[in-house]
Amino acid sequence: MKGLFLLLALSVAVFAKETFVGHQVLRITAKNEAELVLLKELSQQEHLQLDFWMEPIDESLPIDVRVPFKSLQPVRSFLGYNEIHYNILIEDLQALLEKEQQEMISSRAPEPRSTDDFDYASYHTLSEIYSFIDLLVQEKPNLVSKVVIGQSYEGRPLNVLKFSTGANRPGIWIDTGIHSREWVTQASGTWFAKKIVDDYGRDAALTAILDKFDIFLEIVTNPDGFQYTHSSNRMWRKTRKPNSGSNCVGVDPNRNWDAGFGGTGSSGSPCSETYRGPYAHSEPEVKAIVDFVQSHGNLKAFVSIHSYSQMLLYPYGYTRTPCKDQAELHELAKKAVTDLKSLYGTSYKYGSIISTIYQASGGTIDWTYDQGIKYSYTFELRDTGFYGFLLPAKQIIPTAQETWLALMAIMEHTKNNS
Ligand SMILES: [Zn+2]
Repeated sequence: MKGLFLLLALSVAVFAKETFVGHQVLRITAKNEAELVLLKELSQQEHLQLDFWMEPIDESLPIDVRVPFKSLQPVRSFLGYNEIHYNILIEDLQALLEKEQQEMISSRAPEPRSTDDFDYASYHTLSEIYSFIDLLVQEKPNLVSKVVIGQSYEGRPLNVLKFSTGANRPGIWIDTGIHSREWVTQASGTWFAKKIVDDYGRDAALTAILDKFDIFLEIVTNPDGFQYTHSSNRMWRKTRKPNSGSNCVGVDPNRNWDAGFGGTGSSGSPCSETYRGPYAHSEPEVKAIVDFVQSHGNLKAFVSIHSYSQMLLYPYGYTRTPCKDQAELHELAKKAVTDLKSLYGTSYKYGSIISTIYQASGGTIDWTYDQGIKYSYTFELRDTGFYGFLLPAKQIIPTAQETWLALMAIMEHTKNNS
């Protein structure tokens, strides 16, 4: 009987959602500038409804694209005709999604009574993560509190955990999940929160950091988008604010900041996954952080966490002009990725956004760096494209553990140099 209910619940969950039957994720490699130009033209064909997981911007990087079933034939013909090399990364996206959903349902435990019982090795819904936040605050009220920095477009609270052991301290900011489909990031953020609470008073390095700095952690930075990835479309990246004059919803919250806003590497089309929005800070989820950073006035490090592609990046993304702290940020990135690799051998690339990944304007850490927050970094967590955004849950804890080592390197350096 229980099995029948489970089956029923599963099929309801599946049918209420956008499905991706027969969608494939292709990895395309452009071998020269001419092929890259062709691929950029392909990406402009809105009727094909291609979803670029890695954009065609630089011929040194692979291009990953989700192709809907109905567009597979024209895309394959296009690639074949132009003799552009590609291989299939994900054969049938829907099969992978259903596996992820089944794992979530079968691992569903009773509501945890303490954060020790929380299942860090599974993906969780928005309400489960919000309950976790409240539970953590309830357990350690002298160390952690919840700060609501604003409301999402759909009216959800923007919850930030504040870890603090004294008044008037400088701050370190960490956010996860600004792109809602990057599920390993919110899951890692949850693990980080527990790690901070557990390590304070036990681990000398973390204790020294928290004796000098407050740590702010926003786990679900785009709650409307995150809710939507659970209820309707697992592949949702943007915010959920409607765009006037368009049927397409949402803005890319990592192109919406007032740092080279509107430049190359962002789109003016509301249907694009990198739509920058009508003006800088138009999205309440972005504006809330802008207001927080400015009213706090004393943040020393700002780390914004994405997935995937295994990279650690520093400013700038909107200009080729190196930032004035490039040498120091580069050295620190090298140390951080070395520490990260020491745990499971996971390799990260590192460098400025524009030289390592691609030109992107209106990005979070370019804005925070220009606000005077020297240690501004962006992570792209696991993997390098085998599962992409659908990283299996069994990789959550290893991902969080190795990333934590890199975060500690950045926080310790911040402590010793500000
Ligand atoms: Zn992202």
